[in-house]
Amino acid sequence: MENAVNASTAGSGGPIVIAGAGYAGLHVALRLAARLRGNPAVELTLVDRNDYHQAITELPRVAAGTRAADDVRIPLQDVLAARVRFVQTEITGFDWAGRRLLTGAGPIGWGRLVLALGSRPNDFDIPGLAQRALSLYEASDAERVWVAATAALDAAAAATDPEEQRRLATVVVGGGGATGVELAGELAEILPAVAGRHGLAPDRPAVQLIEAGPTILAGSSPQLIDKAAKILSDLKVQVRTNAMIAAATEDGFRLTDGQLVEGGVFVWAGGLKAPELVADSGLPAGHNGRVKVDQYLRVLDQPDIYVAGDLASVTEPDTGHVLPPLAQVALEEGETVARNLDAELEGKPLEAFTFHDKGFVVSVGTRRGVADIAGITTGGRLAHLLKDAIEWEYRQSVRHLRGWDPVAR
Ligand SMILES: Cc1cc2nc3c(=O)[nH]c(=O)nc-3n(C[C@H](O)[C@H](O)[C@H](O)COP(=O)(O)OP(=O)(O)OC[C@H]3O[C@@H](n4cnc5c(N)ncnc54)[C@H](O)[C@@H]3O)c2cc1C
Repeated sequence: MENAVNASTAGSGGPIVIAGAGYAGLHVALRLAARLRGNPAVELTLVDRNDYHQAITELPRVAAGTRAADDVRIPLQDVLAARVRFVQTEITGFDWAGRRLLTGAGPIGWGRLVLALGSRPNDFDIPGLAQRALSLYEASDAERVWVAATAALDAAAAATDPEEQRRLATVVVGGGGATGVELAGELAEILPAVAGRHGLAPDRPAVQLIEAGPTILAGSSPQLIDKAAKILSDLKVQVRTNAMIAAATEDGFRLTDGQLVEGGVFVWAGGLKAPELVADSGLPAGHNGRVKVDQYLRVLDQPDIYVAGDLASVTEPDTGHVLPPLAQVALEEGETVARNLDAELEGKPLEAFTFHDKGFVVSVGTRRGVADIAGITTGGRLAHLLKDAIEWEYRQSVRHLRGWDPVAR
């Protein structure tokens, strides 16, 4: 790992700089390192604030204490080949005219830039939400959720009034999308199992899932939603739909109809937006501040900058919908960006991005899940195994890709 920074401004043939070592950025770095094996002159730099890649899809397990935070932090030095220069630093801004990233380690010049800085939780300006609720986007966030949940069980055990006990031992999750469902399911299965260790009866902890829209897992098939709802009900998760949070206060989530949802721990999983650093950068903004791109995933009218992952606002031509912020989308976009950067170097035509949907899998609790794959909906143990297999395969692929680089250590 290297800290020195080459601040020289590069022409179009200069260094390729990838900002962000998440699903999209790491994939670009790994794929490109393999593709550029015959072209050692091209400098390839990856920049991230952390010296590890986070397996974000596994965070609900960390938040429920079934996986250690360090297990989802994959050290970059274990997966990056020597061909890729890694700079660990905070990106603080952009000098578009000078073609430089501004960072805590000094400016980093690019010939081609890949922006893959992911998302931030979106609190939709709901008063008090950012202060009152925990979020779930990084391993450290997930660790905080688990610490808060167990501390709430301790506080509940110390309370004498049963009502107060119940309130303190309740985790309230805002947002009934895949993240909220996975978190609620996981906690609902684990908290009763660990309650005894904290001096509480197993039926004392509770989990509530609050969703503003008419259904959880919006956009999924009715069959999948139905199966997920049944598992959540079996796990005794109290699901409230059409429940819009107006404010988060010391007492709990206040809904627009005036009801107060009380609890001991509040987690917000209700939406994502582009990081402010990018949203305020002057790049053309699409859905939730994400960056508008052309069919080759280049910023509109800025062909030297590619965008991949959650940060890219990519509209599907068939439906007119913006692709959701998903790891599988980020990986496919990373693939296209790596191919297009290689094509530019080879003087070949660029490839337009097309998303090939592999299906949708959500774990609900520690043993069951739901999946929609090739028009077939399954629910139960098989879907959970599928989710485990996808995560296992992802980790294998990251290591396998490193192996493709002949200059690897
Ligand atoms: C809890 C949770 C569960 C999920 N589960 C699933 C799932 O099961 N399946 C699925 O398909 N998707 C899932 N997703 C969505 C998926 O994780 C994202 O779509 C994916 O991570 C996007 O990849 P990315 O590369 O765009 O961003 P990220 O993976 O977030 O990577 C962004 C990188 O940029 C770095 N970075 C950001 N800002 C800076 C800065 N200023 N300076 C330096 N570095 C910076 C970060 O450290 C990070 O490494 C889940 C998301 C969450 C939050």
